Amino acid sequence: MTYDVIISGAGPCGLMLACELRLRGVNVLVVERLAEPDMTIKAGAINIPTAEAFYRRGLLPHLTAAQEESLSMFRSTLPKNAGKVRTPPKFAGHFAALWLDSENFDHDDPAFHGRGPAGEIGFVVQQQVEAILGAWANDLGVEIRRGVTLTGFDADDAGVTVHAGDQVFRGDWLVGCDGGRSTVRKLAGFDFPGTDPEITGHQAIVTMAGHEGLSRGWNTTPTGIYAFGPQPGRILTVEFDGPPVDRDAEITVEELENSIRAVSGVDVRITGIQSATRFTDNARQANTYRIGRVLVAGDAAHVHSPFGGQGLNLSVGDAMNLGWKLAATINGWAPETLLDTYTTERHPLGEWVLDWTRAQIALMRLDGHARALRKVIKEVIATKDATTYFAKKISGVWHHYDLPGDHPLIGRSASDLALADGTALADHLHDGRGLLLDLGDLPSHAVVPADRLNVVSTKCADEPDLPGLLVRPDGVVAWAGGDGLDGALRTWFGA
Ligand SMILES: Cc1cc2nc3c(=O)[nH]c(=O)nc-3n(C[C@H](O)[C@H](O)[C@H](O)COP(=O)(O)OP(=O)(O)OC[C@H]3O[C@@H](n4cnc5c(N)ncnc54)[C@H](O)[C@@H]3O)c2cc1C
Repeated sequence: MTYDVIISGAGPCGLMLACELRLRGVNVLVVERLAEPDMTIKAGAINIPTAEAFYRRGLLPHLTAAQEESLSMFRSTLPKNAGKVRTPPKFAGHFAALWLDSENFDHDDPAFHGRGPAGEIGFVVQQQVEAILGAWANDLGVEIRRGVTLTGFDADDAGVTVHAGDQVFRGDWLVGCDGGRSTVRKLAGFDFPGTDPEITGHQAIVTMAGHEGLSRGWNTTPTGIYAFGPQPGRILTVEFDGPPVDRDAEITVEELENSIRAVSGVDVRITGIQSATRFTDNARQANTYRIGRVLVAGDAAHVHSPFGGQGLNLSVGDAMNLGWKLAATINGWAPETLLDTYTTERHPLGEWVLDWTRAQIALMRLDGHARALRKVIKEVIATKDATTYFAKKISGVWHHYDLPGDHPLIGRSASDLALADGTALADHLHDGRGLLLDLGDLPSHAVVPADRLNVVSTKCADEPDLPGLLVRPDGVVAWAGGDGLDGALRTWFGA
């Protein structure tokens, strides 16, 4: 059986990538080790670039419904006198367990502008993300084989032969979206340098007794860190006694009970486990994301601790960046260097996330020096400027790529412009093609085949000085005025 692309792993990264490829007509197979979707508690929220990606593919109603479901569950856990929970703030987050006051940031900072309805979404958990992507993949006709584990492959100049036990599949490309302990990454020989782990973390949803003494939110104690809530029964612990001895061992009631007691000092008795996971702070990144016809994306390309809530978002972002470039390569029109820009654009963001999580580990350590530094950072974080800085980082609105061109919008996520014809910019990105938006003053330019680019002519009252915009399929601005439109069309769309 021959496919254009074989993807190993149906986590958020593999599913998003499969959908992006299928959207542009690519014949894709996903093999997934697990027979059923993983319901383990992991990411509790998404950032704005992830919400934008879903919005741009017409999936906003699903995100909105998922957020409402999360919020109503959250509301049901609040004491009766807690008042009404309004729509979630533009960001919610912490840095090294120092909670950020979402009311204390500068809403007028331009980085938060132009996000459209995606800017109102955040409180969507990982299982909901995977359910939405799974349903989308199904609608698009993506072939997903569950209960099939990639065990080996042979790559040559023309493609890759994938082995899954005694099953054999042939693909022109193989993408490892198979998580932090990626088989594809290891077998392909990607270098994976980084720093060693020093913590053992647990996150779980449990039933328990004697937990009245636990404080809600993030807490620092003399023996570690713990978080309690917002989901009913959710606990998270961090102990600085080295990495877990066995990451794969079943997590027991006794292990969780010992951990929460050790870090909180509260005599909690755990009576049942609904979902539990261990994590650590191994921080490593592949130094290239492609070797010949084999690529890695998501956790397969970078691992780090979950502090700061970036991993799921990074995985979705990798898939959005890679999907259209690989599709263009397969569909035969990609400019020669297009696929290489996947590594050059995404590697720096991954590198930032690794450092962002390392800095938090350093600040959470139990020694006197870290405690002293923590006091300083706690005071700094409480200022409006610092809260705004952290809010921009955590929400992802600062993301940009270093692309050719001088205009300040180039390399940034396109604003969701309200257009005179009643549509919004995101409405024109649903089919995974790029967008050339003519706002009335577009210079003459080369013609690009319609399978690569939608051309829309309209007006935008909010941007009277903008002649037009060239937007890549991943929503990133490639040109926004002045010279260089033809160059940008050539660079990104092979005009
Ligand atoms: C406790 C915890 C809390 C977290 N909190 C957050 C958060 O708040 N925000 C955030 O953004 N991120 C968070 N993360 C990180 C996030 O969960 C991951 O970054 C995300 O799941 C990565 O997605 P992925 O698709 O790259 O990999 P995965 O989700 O790991 O998916 C990989 C898939 O590949 C499959 N697979 C593996 N090997 C094979 C094989 N050989 N053959 C076939 N299939 C295979 C696996 O079964 C799996 O389904 C958290 C993680 C943890 C553990």
